[in-house]
Amino acid sequence: MKLLLIYTGGTIGMIQSPEGDLSPFNFDEVLRQVPELNQLDCDIETIQAWEPLDSSDINHNHWIKLADILNENRDQYDGFVILHGTDTMAYTASALSFILKDFSKPIILTGSQLPIGVLRSDGRENLITSVELVLCRLDNEAPAIREVCVYFENKLFRGNRVFKRSSQAFEAFSSPNYPILVDVGVHLDIHHEYTLKPRDHYFFDPKMDSQIAVLKFFPGIDESFLRNVILNSGRNAIILQTYGSGNVPKLEFLSDILDDARDKGVLIINASQCPGGGVSQPAYASSRMLRHAGVLSAGDMTLEATITKTMWLLGQGKQGKVFENLFMENLVGERTISPLQRSR
Ligand code: ASP
Repeated sequence: MKLLLIYTGGTIGMIQSPEGDLSPFNFDEVLRQVPELNQLDCDIETIQAWEPLDSSDINHNHWIKLADILNENRDQYDGFVILHGTDTMAYTASALSFILKDFSKPIILTGSQLPIGVLRSDGRENLITSVELVLCRLDNEAPAIREVCVYFENKLFRGNRVFKRSSQAFEAFSSPNYPILVDVGVHLDIHHEYTLKPRDHYFFDPKMDSQIAVLKFFPGIDESFLRNVILNSGRNAIILQTYGSGNVPKLEFLSDILDDARDKGVLIINASQCPGGGVSQPAYASSRMLRHAGVLSAGDMTLEATITKTMWLLGQGKQGKVFENLFMENLVGERTISPLQRSR
């Protein structure tokens, strides 16, 4: 079997500079720290996507470059591991899940909280197990995993369901609204009932529109701030990060602003500040106004999935009703569709 290991940067490949901070170092050095990779029963080829970056420098253009690399190599390899910084790993995983919809081969992103050269580093295990997971086959030799995932600290997650929960713990990621795909212990315990079964519809059109904004509600938020962001920032879509199950304060001017936004063709999305549970628009009277204003519910999607799905749909030229319908659908396992949303 053949696997492509793609290096983008992140703590896993960093070294302490004389000033004491961490900066990326060379990929050969990363590989020298994990000689165990040679014992695995597969050919591992490597590629550096760009000069190693702290993942806080990664944006939609890097996602497109990564998607290009994956697309070009899709037929030559059985699967892919991407070494990536943890800070924006959930964004990259979510973006790739949309851009490479129905790719049908394992793509696993991993990294570490401590550089791989450090004695207690979590990087070695994360990298070796990610490779093993990519190599897992079903009885009919098809890959056991056929989606974009994040592997971290003994758990394989669906990539568009995770968020970074801790900057310090080895257990850096959490998937509050979707079960773990594989529990890693003595055995790799694959929960096949939760893995994605992609359809044979793969096509490649890697465009993203980053002209969006995220607006987080806070007690005391005022009219001019809301008006400026929603109506005057020139964005194509605004993601409102609301309270709890999607609630906003009773601000009289808000429904006028939302009506004006609708007239201007600005898409408005309701996403919760709570990572667990998400938006349930009919739950409280406080969210009724948003529903009446035609605001779209992000449901139980992560903020990372909500942002990247919005950028991807806009990038594909989807607007108005077409955007709304696709946004509300579960395209790549990113959201749970409740009967209420279905009938919306
Ligand atoms: N700042 C680092 C990055 O995201 C953190 C990490 O990799 O854990 O690149």
